[in-house]
Amino acid sequence: IKRDPHEGEFIQAVSEVVHSLEAVLSKNPQFVHILERLLEPERVIIFRVPWTDDKGEMHVNRGFRIQYNQALGPFKGGLRFHPGVNLSVMKFLGLEQTLKSALTSVNLGGAMGGSDFDPKNKTDNEIMRFCQSFMEELYRHIGPNQDIPCGDIGVGAREIGFLFGQYRRLTSQFESMFTCRSLPSGASQLRLEATGYGLVYFAKEILADMEKDLKGLRCAVSGSGKVAIYAVEKLIAFGAIPVSVSDSRGCIIDEDGFDFAKLSHLRDIKNHRKSLREYTKAHPRSKYIDDGKPWGVKCDLAFPCASQNELNHSDAMALVNTGCKIVVEGANMPCTTDALEVFRKSKIVYAPGKAANAGGVVVSGLEMIQYTGRRQWSADEIDSKLQEEMKDIYLKCKKAANEFGIGVGNPESLVHGANIGAFLPVARAMLEQGCV
Ligand code: NDP
Repeated sequence: IKRDPHEGEFIQAVSEVVHSLEAVLSKNPQFVHILERLLEPERVIIFRVPWTDDKGEMHVNRGFRIQYNQALGPFKGGLRFHPGVNLSVMKFLGLEQTLKSALTSVNLGGAMGGSDFDPKNKTDNEIMRFCQSFMEELYRHIGPNQDIPCGDIGVGAREIGFLFGQYRRLTSQFESMFTCRSLPSGASQLRLEATGYGLVYFAKEILADMEKDLKGLRCAVSGSGKVAIYAVEKLIAFGAIPVSVSDSRGCIIDEDGFDFAKLSHLRDIKNHRKSLREYTKAHPRSKYIDDGKPWGVKCDLAFPCASQNELNHSDAMALVNTGCKIVVEGANMPCTTDALEVFRKSKIVYAPGKAANAGGVVVSGLEMIQYTGRRQWSADEIDSKLQEEMKDIYLKCKKAANEFGIGVGNPESLVHGANIGAFLPVARAMLEQGCV
């Protein structure tokens, strides 16, 4: 904190982890220095990304790759293209990814990268030129045993395709480390769906412990990107009633709930990069709230799936007033610290993103096994492996919390359990590997 006082998001993420680890550190003082090292990324790469728009005008953006921690396996983590990208955001996401990977059974480390480039309102050719310029530097630092990037906000199938094309061209290696639909081998079934589906499987585990089921429960969802849309799809499949989605311009509330036909309409709107307002034309009982968030809608569960710190103190109060009992984070760190305080006081069960949204890493791990083994699992096989793994992550969080005296009745048990359960394997590996 003294070293980087302006890195708000990073300090917020670190504070949460350190708070959870108090009991661990007092019983295991040898881990204090390990934590100190863990809070410093192994490598920070910052580079210039020049590119030209369709009119021939030159632009320059800043590129990042934070190779956060490799103690458990190759660096692994997303690429984000969004104007809000800066060093603090990259470092917090790198730390979260390191802990997330450690909660899974795949041997991967943590990384994050991206650029303050805004892909909105750019043509496909502009996006392609930007991706090629970005990869011109990034390719030196990545590889299947070194650092494995994947998508995040603003980086979807189109961007991954362009990035992979340039990587292949620069290295002459057809290495399947990016998930890209056009790759004949390597792209796993359900990779795109994995985070959203995994999120819902995680929620199911929480409910099962309360002897409840998703069927008939009302769910408020924010975001309408890769994570949110597949979460909504899985919620519908389980008979839940998802009643909202949102984007950076506003939100849709459909009190009747989305079904598969309505979801297909939402997808169509997003694919054509139109406003969510369009939805109300076909569904007059729904409403669009300009610049609004979905947290005032009556719901049993909330799934924030848009971005960091999207859910603040007053949103948390609104959720409590609607009767919401469980918050499951699809995005990374979507709840502010004072929102979490509201949940704690109101005894709302809260599942942190590093556990609940780990489905993407799980399927990335399965993808790597499929590539090296030159075999493919079917979508059903991947789906059942994903369900098992999300259950294991849930149980790991519960067990770690229990071991340190944080019982099931404590609404924060999952967050403390996730931080402890993730920290211990990383710390042990770092201790074994010496002072590197
Ligand atoms: P996408 O770019 O596909 O979607 C992001 C969605 O959130 C869009 O609907 C976007 O709206 C909206 N959004 C972005 N910023 C804001 C904001 N400040 N306020 C309101 N809405 C906003 O990203 P993903 O779905 O991939 O990622 C969403 C979150 O999930 C991120 O926190 C990411 O780190 C996390 N995550 C993603 C994983 C993945 O596999 N993709 C894995 C684990 C976590 P608009 O369309 O208007 O920009």
